Amino acid sequence: MDEGGLNLLNIKAQNEAIELTWLRSYLDLTPKRPMWAIVTDILISAAAPPGTLAIARMNMFIQKWKPSTRGPRVMILGDETLRMLKITKKYNTNLGAIRLSTNVKAKLPSWYHPGTPPRPLTNVATKCLLKKHKVSTVAELIKLANKAQAQNRSQDHIPALTCICRDCVHERLGGCKNPHACAEEALERLHEIAPKYNPLEIELHDNLSLTHRRKMSNKNAQDRGGDILLDPTITCRNSLAECFRTFVDPKKLSLTPAYHQ
Ligand SMILES: [Zn+2]
Ligand SMILES: [Zn+2]
Repeated sequence: MDEGGLNLLNIKAQNEAIELTWLRSYLDLTPKRPMWAIVTDILISAAAPPGTLAIARMNMFIQKWKPSTRGPRVMILGDETLRMLKITKKYNTNLGAIRLSTNVKAKLPSWYHPGTPPRPLTNVATKCLLKKHKVSTVAELIKLANKAQAQNRSQDHIPALTCICRDCVHERLGGCKNPHACAEEALERLHEIAPKYNPLEIELHDNLSLTHRRKMSNKNAQDRGGDILLDPTITCRNSLAECFRTFVDPKKLSLTPAYHQ
């Protein structure tokens, strides 16, 4: 290969490195997220498939929808966003963390959830959850579903359209016509979430985390230059940002949580 060819390869690798850096900042879903990432969200949402609801879209990486990267809608995305989406596809970036903590599971979006079978957003209760209750996360679904669960029912709530408990009255003031039906819908949606993503599943102790003693023996081994046991902790604990994996084959992702046998 002549020098020109090598230079071209270098430029390509350099570009990819830049695009991966953009992707990393874009996926930092913490409050310190850069302004351009928020603008990118708006562009990606504008290029979303027409059959999806704008009010229910949050972020394509943690939901089951993808923007068009071909045809007239591509114009909306612009070159840089398109480059970032292409690198995403090339390196298969997705929510591939092996286990998520309850805290992270609760932060996932309630709509187009990655771990649920498709469920239409067209019934009256769902529309009310979206528009009147303004539900957007799994945590908000849990809060609403709570009173629909018999064991959690407060003394005041009765499972009927006519309930006048404090919560139902409050929800009616917000425009809801049937608070109990909305709570039931929220509960059904929660039950459909696969165990791997479901915060209501009991979180077992992560047996793969190193015990304190093993950690200490690692420290000693490190000091002596001996063998170190790799820390295999696989739970994604604090933020959604740390759950993203690049280079994961989506077909190999399992919907059951990984436990050490
Ligand atoms: Zn009530
Ligand atoms: Zn409602």
